[in-house]
Amino acid sequence: MHVFRIPMTLRFRGQTVREGVLIHGPAGWGEFSPFPEYGPAECARWLACANEAAFDGWPEPLRAWIPVNATVPAVGPEKAFEIVRLSHCGTAKVKVGERGQDFAEDMARVEAVRDAIGPAGRVRVDVNGGWDVDSAVRRLKELDRFDLEYAEQPCATLDELAEVRRRVNVPIAADESIRRAEDPLKVRAAEAADIAVIKVQPLGGVRAALRVAEACGLPVVVSSAVETSVGLAAGLALAAALPELPYACGLGTMPLLSGDVVTDSLVPVGGAIAVRRPEVDQRALAAYEIESPAWKRRMEEAAGTAGEGRQ
Ligand SMILES: [Mg+2]
Repeated sequence: MHVFRIPMTLRFRGQTVREGVLIHGPAGWGEFSPFPEYGPAECARWLACANEAAFDGWPEPLRAWIPVNATVPAVGPEKAFEIVRLSHCGTAKVKVGERGQDFAEDMARVEAVRDAIGPAGRVRVDVNGGWDVDSAVRRLKELDRFDLEYAEQPCATLDELAEVRRRVNVPIAADESIRRAEDPLKVRAAEAADIAVIKVQPLGGVRAALRVAEACGLPVVVSSAVETSVGLAAGLALAAALPELPYACGLGTMPLLSGDVVTDSLVPVGGAIAVRRPEVDQRALAAYEIESPAWKRRMEEAAGTAGEGRQ
């Protein structure tokens, strides 16, 4: 096993470095990179995803290219404009509702993104559960001046999402509400979302995520957990294997890392990523490899959590 530590180019959801473990098996490389706050039970599913990649491989792809969105963190409008222009993506996801910022900053950022992407582009916002219902209703109506494709997790709970969804015309996507295999059914039962954002690592791998997508019966947007290209390849495999893929995916996150462990990085070209599985490059890996007993322990603890990841 190899532990990596890669500085991020921008602070994203409180993170300034990305760490994780790469494992190699007969089917290829797998990535285990749960966020620092996750305990062993949660980590077991992330480990199942890495094990699937290393030992089982993935289902056959149904498509060769995956359209992806540009990701705009809580930056100023000039920077937001530049990120979207440089991305060449037809869809942009904009972080709004960042702690410590006011709503005028959100409006300026989303306006800049709409300017950069043009009238035919799609603009979605991500609140990461940061608003209460009334704020979400009021703010989404204002932000919809810039024609939103959808709003991701405007509030924290399913009941709140459902209420916002009843009160605005902007479609609602559930992200943080979907972390376990049983969550999509709850989202559906609560009529809390129009779209499900799913990530392979927290759901336990490509096959587990495909089952989640099917059970949920909603259109799916595959998103990354800001992995290296090893982890992103699993997300790409999921997006490639889904029966339908109506929205651009959140897999174009490689630019958020200052480096990669492969030479053939999974970066978007013209707003899409070619479906493939790059090999770890030992020289690239050496630049970011660290000694970490803590990560070894974390992996052992996740492995010791009885079978939760392998469903
Ligand atoms: Mg999100």
